[in-house]
Amino acid sequence: MSAIDSLPPLSQVIARHQIAAKKSLGQNFLLDLNLTSRIARQAGDLRACDVLEIGPGPGGLTRALLAEGARRVLAVEKDQRCLAALSEIAAHYPGRLEVLNQDALKLDVAAYLTPPVKVVANLPYNIGTELLIRWLTPADWPPFWDSLTLMFQKEVAERIVAIPGSKAYGRLSILTQWRAKARIVMEVPPQAFTPPPKVTSAVVHVVARERMLFDADEATLTRVVAAAFGQRRKMLRSSLKTLAPDIESVLMTAGIPPTERAENVSIEGFCALARALAK
Ligand code: SAM
Repeated sequence: MSAIDSLPPLSQVIARHQIAAKKSLGQNFLLDLNLTSRIARQAGDLRACDVLEIGPGPGGLTRALLAEGARRVLAVEKDQRCLAALSEIAAHYPGRLEVLNQDALKLDVAAYLTPPVKVVANLPYNIGTELLIRWLTPADWPPFWDSLTLMFQKEVAERIVAIPGSKAYGRLSILTQWRAKARIVMEVPPQAFTPPPKVTSAVVHVVARERMLFDADEATLTRVVAAAFGQRRKMLRSSLKTLAPDIESVLMTAGIPPTERAENVSIEGFCALARALAK
């Protein structure tokens, strides 16, 4: 029996169902249910919410989300080997856990969820950034989710919350903070995972803003930011020259010196630039 429910400890579950971690699936499992409960609590009160979990694996975080009172958990897991372990959890919490054996990158999850929705996940590192960008750039805003509580490599987490002028500031910082408030809420050392990854991890809590901070067309902003940080050491008049024939005057219209470098331009500045380019 474990500390948070009467299900067996995760090490036993993994041994019984033969779920040896696979590197190709980004499998670094959390076996300490006190730790997964702490992560679940970072998402706030779950009782009135549907929770989307990507990659439940053997179910350590899933169990914590259910024990913390989530109204319903939708768990999307690509690895078929985890399904038997997850159905034991579903049986323990009747009607509250639905598992989809699918690739999260190929699924439109919104159709399976009832608002309000919180996303909580210890993401596979190889698809974490791609999923975050998708969740931040849907066709319509506000998105299907209210908050995202996600584990990333610490270095990625730092990029998400970085401010202008810092080394970590870039595309992820701007796309996230333009439409959401983000902060690092926990650091998690390598030894907390089985097997331990090479780097420290961190949990980021992202809360969707009702509206973006400054007006801009999302596709134009994404294009400008990608070009600017694609060559972050260059002056903007050079890194952005393929975006418009008269890029220096577009930069000046936006109030940005053409000799400025991307890492010193605020989100407000990039939005002004996207608006000037769209004209
Ligand atoms: N949540 C578990 C935990 O904290 O112990 C497992 C986390 S592990 C870092 C990532 C999980 O994502 C694995 O169970 C892996 O099989 C799953 N996964 C990897 N790629 C996936 C994909 N494209 N779609 C859905 N699940 C995926």
